[in-house]
Amino acid sequence: MHPLAKLDHKFVWHPFTQMRDWLRREPLVIVEGKGAVLRDVKGREFLDANSSIWTNLHGHQNSKINSAIRRQLGKIAHSSALGLANEPASLLAAKLVEAANSICNLRFAVDAPQLKRSRQTQIVNRKLEKVFFSDDGSTALEVALKLAYQYSWRIRSASCPAALMKKFPPRFLSLDGAYHGDTIGAVSLGHIDLFHQAYGGMLFKTDKVMSPYCYRCPFNRAKPERDDARAYRKCNWECVGLVEKKFSTQKKKGNPYAAFVFEPLMQGAAGMIPQPDGWLNRVAEIARSHGALLIADEVMTGFGRTGQCSAGFQPAGLRGIPALQTGDDVTRTRRQDACATLFASQHENVQPDFLCAAKGLTGGYLPMAATLTTQKVFDAFLGEYAEFKTFFHGHSFTGNQLGAAAALASLEILQTEKSVRQRAQLQNNLRAELQSLWPLPNVGDIRQAGLVAGIELVKNWRTREPFALRERAGIRVCEAMVRRGVLTRPIGNVIVLMPPYCTTRAQLRKMVSALHDAVAEIFRGG
Ligand code: PMP
Repeated sequence: MHPLAKLDHKFVWHPFTQMRDWLRREPLVIVEGKGAVLRDVKGREFLDANSSIWTNLHGHQNSKINSAIRRQLGKIAHSSALGLANEPASLLAAKLVEAANSICNLRFAVDAPQLKRSRQTQIVNRKLEKVFFSDDGSTALEVALKLAYQYSWRIRSASCPAALMKKFPPRFLSLDGAYHGDTIGAVSLGHIDLFHQAYGGMLFKTDKVMSPYCYRCPFNRAKPERDDARAYRKCNWECVGLVEKKFSTQKKKGNPYAAFVFEPLMQGAAGMIPQPDGWLNRVAEIARSHGALLIADEVMTGFGRTGQCSAGFQPAGLRGIPALQTGDDVTRTRRQDACATLFASQHENVQPDFLCAAKGLTGGYLPMAATLTTQKVFDAFLGEYAEFKTFFHGHSFTGNQLGAAAALASLEILQTEKSVRQRAQLQNNLRAELQSLWPLPNVGDIRQAGLVAGIELVKNWRTREPFALRERAGIRVCEAMVRRGVLTRPIGNVIVLMPPYCTTRAQLRKMVSALHDAVAEIFRGG
């Protein structure tokens, strides 16, 4: 065993890893990366098919990001944001605000004037104008959670007796299968029993509502087909009806939800569960109509990951289905307009009150996160010092200069025409390559949202019968992919493909064919 692997075995405890399994074999020790390729200590090369756990955007050793970090390093690596401002963090905050607000207005320049007017007003009122920096996805969610809690408390307590406030503290709604991080607040919002149940006693209570998992939806009357389940589903948007019911029931209890927390377009750790066209727009309207704040977790989906529009299928979505008028209009507008949105919420014309970004914020280089929010929320924390309305929250590395410099460079790359074109091409190529997986009988569903895809493995595609988790189907397939020079991690029975944006067609083909051959090898004979 390589000495570095030995050290790892001796001292390191890995995240989300059964360490007994880990200690049974020599780990890959990564020493270098270039573009979509990772190289290990023994000189072997692997394709980074999940962008280093969904963080990397432009590939490893991107020359522009490398230079930006070096330039910043020549000035200063870090000074505290507690009591001090700094150059790259100020610039980055301004850029993030611009990116989070600009697209919606642009989109409506091409559509119906009355829609343009009403929507623009809505959006302007909820413009994301303030940025709170932190360290990672979990902390970005903690910040949103605490801000939303306090904001709701302050707004409601103005008209609500103290005893009632105590009885009914602000309550949150999130989606079935939600994963928003591993700190305690984020875990409280989560609804994956395997990860979260063990900590029940430490958590505060939140509610969950059905997420639109078309492939396994009990309301979907369609028989399985060799296509993305969203494309052939037969339903009446019962999932949207359940969201409405959840909000109404909670309101009747005298404690309407303070906030609705969601991953827009695609739920990641839930198993790459994509939302059908129009779903997010509708449920956001419902949440708004019940006075709830919207918290968009764009930790995975942000920075172009969900592509130019919700890719991978021709939606049957709106056919014959009663819908909110505006929802349909907006959805139609979206399809006509291939503008380069950086955030998934923008695809559905949803302007949240909180937008949480991390992972790809720095291009996947350094741990840094941002929680964007509105002037209204910000104002609720203003007061004389002695009123103690301050947001008492912060981290040592908040607004870190190296991270901010990397993020500025990454944003600049993302907004170049070259990158926009590259992403559009990769999205199309991914869709094309994924078609080769349909003939495999153990592939049940292939779901793509822009530059991310989840491939759900099943015992038999005709019955959708799942593998039991203990069969380690996803893990075994990924191990077989490693033998073919491709690295990714499964989510249960779902294999994730999330290539860096610089991935070439040949590299993409290798990722998909490694998956194809691994599935064929592991399930040979059915
Ligand atoms: N939200 C989402 C949607 C995520 O996918 C993740 C991480 N996979 C997190 C939050 C937590 O991010 P981090 O691991 O950076 O704390």
